[in-house]
Amino acid sequence: AAMYGIERWGDGYFSISEEGTVRVSPDPNQTGAIDLKSLVDRLVDRGLELPILIRFNGILRDRLHRLADCFQKAIDDHDYASQYRCVFPIKVNQQREVVQQIVSEGSKLGFGIEAGSKPELLAAVAMGTLDLPIICNGFKDEEFIRLALHAQRLGRTVMPVVEKVSELDLILRIAEEVGVRPTFGMRVKLATRGSGRWQASGGYRSKFGLTVAEVLAQLDRLIEMEMGDCFQLLHFHVGSQIGNIRQLKSAILEAARIYADLKKRGAALGYLDVGGGLGVDYDGSQSDNESSMNYTIQEYANDVVYHVQSVCDEADVPHPQLISESGRAVAAQHSVLVMETLGVTSQGQASLPSWARVPAEQEQAAKVAEAAVVGDDNNLGDGRPSEEVRRQQLRNDEPDGPPEHFEKPVHDLWEQYRLMTPSNMLETFHDAQVALDLCMNLFSGGYLPLEQRVAAESLYFAICHRARDLAAQLDEIPEDLCDLNRMLSDIYFANFSLFQSMPDSWAIDQLFPIMPIHRLLERPTRHAVLGDITCDSDGKIDSFVGDGHRTPTLMLHPLRSDEPYQLAVFMVGAYQEILGDLHNLFGDTHAVHVELDGGVTKIRSIVKGDTVSEVLSYVQYEDRELVEAIQEAVESAIDSGRINHQQAGRTVAAYEQALAGYTYLTSSRQGNAAS
Ligand code: PLP
Repeated sequence: AAMYGIERWGDGYFSISEEGTVRVSPDPNQTGAIDLKSLVDRLVDRGLELPILIRFNGILRDRLHRLADCFQKAIDDHDYASQYRCVFPIKVNQQREVVQQIVSEGSKLGFGIEAGSKPELLAAVAMGTLDLPIICNGFKDEEFIRLALHAQRLGRTVMPVVEKVSELDLILRIAEEVGVRPTFGMRVKLATRGSGRWQASGGYRSKFGLTVAEVLAQLDRLIEMEMGDCFQLLHFHVGSQIGNIRQLKSAILEAARIYADLKKRGAALGYLDVGGGLGVDYDGSQSDNESSMNYTIQEYANDVVYHVQSVCDEADVPHPQLISESGRAVAAQHSVLVMETLGVTSQGQASLPSWARVPAEQEQAAKVAEAAVVGDDNNLGDGRPSEEVRRQQLRNDEPDGPPEHFEKPVHDLWEQYRLMTPSNMLETFHDAQVALDLCMNLFSGGYLPLEQRVAAESLYFAICHRARDLAAQLDEIPEDLCDLNRMLSDIYFANFSLFQSMPDSWAIDQLFPIMPIHRLLERPTRHAVLGDITCDSDGKIDSFVGDGHRTPTLMLHPLRSDEPYQLAVFMVGAYQEILGDLHNLFGDTHAVHVELDGGVTKIRSIVKGDTVSEVLSYVQYEDRELVEAIQEAVESAIDSGRINHQQAGRTVAAYEQALAGYTYLTSSRQGNAAS
């Protein structure tokens, strides 16, 4: 199981049990854990079909506490004279139950919410208690600002952050109308840019924020209007998933300098909001690649606190309240998607033509002969016969080979296949590529019959399989053969939609840890890539968290006919749900909230996924109209004598049942469990 890297990316939350199943420890400091396989079995017993998204409330709470604890430690260690709070950007996961958890646990820590649009603001205001701080980023219209200022009038901390100068004009005008002295922040464009995928969020060319010159001009204007005290918060954001702490450090330093200088120029400022960017180590490599981070939360907290403090001390400015808008780091780990494999297609393992096969009894004899040479001087020390012995065997076991009239490159492939040995395998592999190309050219020109093309392909793949097996035994695999695992990998089809459940895998090649949730004491032997059930060749995953680096295949177990094989995708709690789309009309999956309560696994709530009827309604199909259309079709089929009344009834019933059902495939096993 080490090949899945769970001990690195699991971060104490995920590990492997003695039974070879995935174990979830929502609070790593407490004893007791949830067995993911048993939990899934229980849900299936209740009639819930996979795929299911499982949210571990305890992990969410633990993330909030880790953040609070790390900042508190940094504040204590450095004698920082103010506080820290996180405002959770709800765009990262707006699901009501998730926000509810964050609000109820976060408010104990003084945490708040960040909203970036009117719907998000309305949700945040409704979810929060009166003293829940809410920060409003994003572009705003009059209505948005009016909502925020009305809330201020009610005494709530709802702080709009000015993203462009015209928003400040609006705030000033509407504040007068609402009759409130407004408080607001400004987002500043830093020169420092992040790196990686979201680097455009920072830097001079970023979409959001005011340049330093604009901030200065607005401050002067406010002071002139005797409203300098209204400008309370300075915000920046250099992008999400910042892998390298150096980038964060320089952004914090730059922002702290701006803060201190504004303060000295008369701004009332009391808050410095360092935005998001705190990463998640998806691949567990602790490096600065795009799926990882080369720092810990503690190091991040130390850097924020230390740099802000040193700049403010130097400038003789009081320490601001620190705010971070950490979304990914709070939400990513707490959701896990569990899905079931549906079947496998293997690459190039079609059987060889009969003339290429050793008759069964001869093959058996060859195996015995091969076994006999183990320990002999003639073997290669790994139980494999030497070239001489193998040639001897070949002479003994010789199958017939291709019929005379087959074209030369097919004969070449056959010769390459039969004479391949560990020492000539690379050359043979290259020769086989040339021979196959020749065959394909002949085929396209109409000179190679289909039967010979099939023979050429199966010989070619047989050579590739043999080359891969031989190469696996070498200390160093020749570069040209490295790609064979990918090329020959199986495609495991799983019952999920990549576009709905892990859109970032498709859109930006984001890595998520994936592994089976059971059979983990068994050695997985198949190199696999994953295919989803959308009718889209992009709906596949061929990049995995390997043993410390991205790998093109995932090692999986051979499927068994009598047992489901279930896989989990980890760390999908941030951004994936809301970015997920309805490609092929696969809807939301079921979502289940799970709690570990006194060592006992408790299912807190089950939110059923979309039904077919629901997803159809999103694209303006009404159940009633659909059923009517089917009724009509059935009537005319009866009229024309195609079906009888019983069949008519069954057809309509099947249609209605499918409308009420899950959008994903329902396996008969799941169906049985449900019934
Ligand atoms: N704040 C702002 C303004 C953002 O645009 C984002 C996301 O990109 C975040 C906070 C959340 O960032 P993260 O998920 O990296 O914490």
